[in-house]
Order: sequence, then C-alpha cells, then structure tokens
Amino acid sequence: MSRPASFHLPRSLEGSLSRRDFLWLMGVAGSAVLLPLSGCAIDPVTGQKTLVGMSEEQEKSLDKRQSPNQFSSDLGAVQDAGLNRYVQEVGTTLWSKSQRPQMPYSARVLNANYVNAYTFPGGSMGVTRGIMLEMNNEDELAALLGHEIGHVNARHSAERAGRELLANVALTAAGVAIASSENGRQYLPLLQPLSQIGASALLAKYSRDNEREADSLGLDYLVAGGYNPDGMAGLMNMLRSESRQKPGLLETMFASHPMSEERYQTARLTAEQKYAGQRGRPTRRERYLDNTAGLRRIQPTVESCQKGEALMAKKQLPQAEDQFGLALRHTHDDYAANVLMAKALMAQKKNREADPYLAAAKSIYPGEAQAVHLSGLAKLALRQPEAALAEFVAYDKLLPGNPSTLFFVGAANENMGNKREAANYYSRYLQSGAQGSEAQFAVTRLRDWKVIK
Ligand SMILES: [Zn+2]
Repeated sequence: MSRPASFHLPRSLEGSLSRRDFLWLMGVAGSAVLLPLSGCAIDPVTGQKTLVGMSEEQEKSLDKRQSPNQFSSDLGAVQDAGLNRYVQEVGTTLWSKSQRPQMPYSARVLNANYVNAYTFPGGSMGVTRGIMLEMNNEDELAALLGHEIGHVNARHSAERAGRELLANVALTAAGVAIASSENGRQYLPLLQPLSQIGASALLAKYSRDNEREADSLGLDYLVAGGYNPDGMAGLMNMLRSESRQKPGLLETMFASHPMSEERYQTARLTAEQKYAGQRGRPTRRERYLDNTAGLRRIQPTVESCQKGEALMAKKQLPQAEDQFGLALRHTHDDYAANVLMAKALMAQKKNREADPYLAAAKSIYPGEAQAVHLSGLAKLALRQPEAALAEFVAYDKLLPGNPSTLFFVGAANENMGNKREAANYYSRYLQSGAQGSEAQFAVTRLRDWKVIK
C-alpha cells in the first residue's frame, strides 16, 4: 500500500516517537499477540517439510484483507469486462492443473501502467495493463500467470513469513522464553500482528530461488494447460529487453536484472529438454490480439502515463503534468490518467485544479476508491474538513479496514474543531499498529492534548 506523502499532513510534524512511547503504544495496542507458528507443514509441491509462518486459512484471510487495497492502489481492475474475463479464463485453465486447485484464485488486469504482475498468497492476482501491452500472445500471458500460480503453490509467502517470524523473534524478543503448547506446536510472541506485515513486503521480496521455482512450476502448468512451452522463453525474452530499454518500468517480478538473462536461458533450455514434444503446438496470437484490442487502442495513453509517472518519480512535476495532459487528450475518460493528473497537481499544491480531475475520475469509475481518497486529501488541504470527512467515510465503505482512513478521519475532525473525536480516531489509528510519520503526528497530537503522557 502506498504511504501518503507528507504534503497530505494538515500541519508540520513536531517531535518524534521515543522508545518509551513506542513501548507504551504497544501496551495500548495490546498487540503482544501470540500467533501459532505452524511449525512444519508439507510443501504441496515438493512433498517435503518446510517451515511456514502461515496456515492455509491465514494465507486466505491475509489475501482477502490486503488484495483489495493493493488492487486499488494500482487503480483498480480495468473497466473492460471482456478483458478481465479473458485473463480469468486463461488463469482457470492453469490453476485447475496445479497442486492446490482448492485455493480461491482470481485474476484481473489492473489500470496501473508499470510493467508487472503479482499474486497474494490465496491466489488473488493482478496483471498490469502495462505488461499486457508488452506481451505478444496468449502463451506468454499463460506463462506469466503460471509463474504467479507457482508462487501460490510453493507457498512462498508463507515460507517468507516463517523466516520473518523467526527473524523478528531473534531481534526483538531475545531472552523471551518460547513456550510449547500441549500439541507440541511452538507459540512465538510477536510485537507486530501478522496483519501488519505490509502487502508490498510480502509481494516484493521473493528470493531468487523462489523465482526460479515459480518459473519452473509455471512452465509445467503452461504445458499442462495445453500451451506451447516456448511461451515462457517468449515472456522472459520480452522482460529481458524491457529491463535493458526501460528499467524504471519494471517492478517486483523481474526487478533483479542479472537474473533476467539466466531465467531466459533456463526457460529456453527446459522447453528444449523437458518439453520438446510440445513445442510444435500453435501459438495463440490471434486470440490474444482480439481480446486486447480495446487496450491496444489506448496504448498512446498508457505510454504517456508511463512517461508522466517516471517524471513524477524524478519530481519533475510540471513536465509530468504535460504527459498526463497528452494522455487525457487521447483518452479523456481514462480513469488512471485523471487520477495521475490530480496527483501531479496535488504534489504542486494545486488542490483546487486537481478537484475537477478527481470529480471526473469518480464519475468514470464509481466503485474505485483511489479517486475518493485523493478527493478527501484535496479537500483537507483546501480547508474543507466537512467535505473531506464525507470522502473518507465514502472511501471506508468502498475499502473497509484500511487503517490510514482512521488517521484521515481524525485529521478531518481535528480541522472541524472536534478534538475529542479526533483523539478517538488518532488513538484507534495507533492501536492498529501504524508506524511512520502519520503515527508520529498522531502521538504528538495526543500528547499535546494530554490524552497520553
Ligand atoms: Zn515471481
């Protein structure tokens, strides 16, 4: 989840969080949660015992809780029902052949412009429109989804959570005895509940071995699904040249550049050696082109958005604004372009100018929460706290349970002069385990108001 930038803060930050405050907060939060570390589980792929930090139920519930937030920060699923259905169908062909067909898989194309795909541990997958425009045929799409299904089946997030739990315990709870329960499972004390392991952390840091394993499993699913095994090498080749031409656009999946050459060669060799008999299968290019026709019509919009986002990252805000302007000239009703234009304007404190773009975005895609959140921030900055509060309440209906909403509802209340309500929301925000600049701000307020010492 993206962290709101500091310009969203109603006032400048004072003071910082001391260690004592931190411990106090932990006491308030009552978050000395005892989580069962599911000791050893059988890896569904290898049949071997592995240490996992999440049960299957935890994988599913983490997925359910976090994936809607991540999909929204990637600007939601594209409003092209046919395209989403197509990606879901290709996915279904593959995951029905996997070792964990019982998982609640789903796949959609996201409005994000960067080149990436990811999965949550329960199997909720997102493929960006940026990467959809780079692929050449359905076999490459199947290879991409197969790779993500590989992560779910080899339980890489759970494995990683297991390693993190151990690392956390080693770092923060040295000397705390690890008690054993009757059934022999170990219970480890945690400072942070599992829900606080950020989505991005779970998504971003698969090890190189995890990536290799997901590639290998993905290739198996690709072939089991009736596709040409060369789809994996085709995908890797595309990503290899992407990482040379526009490294900034690649995230997560292929972020480690030295690997892209190795992964391409492995995919090529494995297809030759293991699946030589299936290499004659026809490549499904026509179907891919038919189903992505609508997306390819707005390719210039996506490319302008990509350029604009690269400029935003370099803080060249007026130039970014120009690019989003080009994107909108090509497709005036593109949700992503409207949201990005508003972000570029808000980053320049042009909140009043951002407002019509946000209003347009909200009417283009009423169910998507990002424009609503940004509207709340713009109104907060424009000193319209009542209107801001209404936006944050609407946001919470669309995406319930995002802790940062508590902070912004608190800030709106503070600006309305409702100190009591504000204190209540700031406390709840801190109790959610929040950290970072907003949390420090909330602590400072509560201290100023003598709610805490
Ligand atoms: Zn991966």
